[in-house]
Amino acid sequence: SKVPPIILNNGVEMPQLGYGVWQVPDDEAERAVTTALEAGYRSIDTAAIYGNEEGTGKAIAASDLPREELFVTTKLWNGDQGYDATLRAFDTSLAKLGLEYVDLYLIHWPLPERGTYVDTYKAFEKLHADGRVRAIGVSNFLPAHLEHLIAETSVIPAVNQIELHPHLQQHAAREFHAEQGIATEAWSPLGQGKGLLEVPAVVAIARKHGRTPAQVVLRWHIQLGNVVIPKSVTPSRIEENIAVFDFSLDDEDLAAISALNEDRRLGPDPATFDVV
Ligand code: NAD
Repeated sequence: SKVPPIILNNGVEMPQLGYGVWQVPDDEAERAVTTALEAGYRSIDTAAIYGNEEGTGKAIAASDLPREELFVTTKLWNGDQGYDATLRAFDTSLAKLGLEYVDLYLIHWPLPERGTYVDTYKAFEKLHADGRVRAIGVSNFLPAHLEHLIAETSVIPAVNQIELHPHLQQHAAREFHAEQGIATEAWSPLGQGKGLLEVPAVVAIARKHGRTPAQVVLRWHIQLGNVVIPKSVTPSRIEENIAVFDFSLDDEDLAAISALNEDRRLGPDPATFDVV
């Protein structure tokens, strides 16, 4: 494969770069995911709330790839938290994907005021024990949520998928994850393609290496050890975003990008986000 794996805390291998499908309509997801699979992506990141598990599943079914070469992530939506509701929601996701197991199942948001993520995660532990999910984890959990979860359950989450890009570098979370053996997965790794890709320092590093700003930002994540899941529906960009394993940033480049941190979120604050 074009993409090297990282080893999760339960020994499962996860490609360090995958394809994210947020905001891809279901009827476009099959074509988009097919393009990504043809470009060499083997990891796909979807979620129940994205409404495109069916389109994603169609692309997987239509590909000739053996199931074990793919790494499929989906996420439990907020309104389905709680032990029994989680088990039902998982069945629905699996049926929509047309799969017999998923590789990674994530609690999409912690909803800390509701106090349901521990019971939700206990259902995840059952799905894991039953062999229907190869690795279980969370998304948008702050270190305090992870500490509480780890104290109340038996399986340390394999992954925490959080908003992370050069304008929001998440130093405290990354350090906490590393201490706990939790892989850090970056959502919106390109900062949603907004101002970040025009920042002069990023553009200059891109010129120096004969690469694009998006490739430079993705390469920065890779060298930090983050898992990334950039999204695009444009075939040339889908190809560009995976072509980041044949060059390296030097220490000066890494330092220049690390100097861009503004601790600025594009998405909601996990401490207060409560949409179901
Ligand atoms: P992203 O940082 O991947 O940016 C995507 C946007 O950047 C594209 O829509 C396009 O406008 C632009 N872009 C992509 N490639 C480019 C290129 N090569 N050159 C120039 N512009 C380019 O943002 P995202 O889609 O928000 O995040 C990626 C994935 O993360 C999502 O698809 C989803 O799978 C996941 N995600 C998860 C959560 C969560 O709560 N767990 C939240 C948001 C996103």
